Amino acid sequence: MPECLFCRIVSGGVPASRVLESPRTLSFRDISPQAPTHVLVIPKDHHPDLAALAAADGSLLTELVSQAAEVARAEGISGTGYRVVFNTGADAGQAVPHVHAHVLGGRGLGWPPG
Ligand code: AMP
Ligand code: ZN
Repeated sequence: MPECLFCRIVSGGVPASRVLESPRTLSFRDISPQAPTHVLVIPKDHHPDLAALAAADGSLLTELVSQAAEVARAEGISGTGYRVVFNTGADAGQAVPHVHAHVLGGRGLGWPPG
């Protein structure tokens, strides 16, 4: 099976605008930003979605969420607020089957989402 897109970003085969890195996670800018700050946080290991990651490695999920908060701090939006989203499955529009947290902020995001 060919490596997935986000695994190729981790290995450097596909370029990305990297924001932060921790031992087991990588954060990079979304190629199609939906807000002034739109960063994706992924585990370097391949897990298909949130449920799979939670079942396989809870400490890695904790590291992922901590990095999402760290990205918000680094982007200067932790004071104004931000949203962390895990799209999971077809109805949520998950397009890349490698779990990723979207960190969105820098403007009023509204609620509920469309
Ligand atoms: P999702 O719909 O939750 O699976 O989100 C996938 C996200 O990956 C989308 O917001 C895309 O814009 C983003 N994306 C796709 N390809 C790339 C890429 N090469 N570099 C950065 N972000 C990407
Ligand atoms: Zn992958």
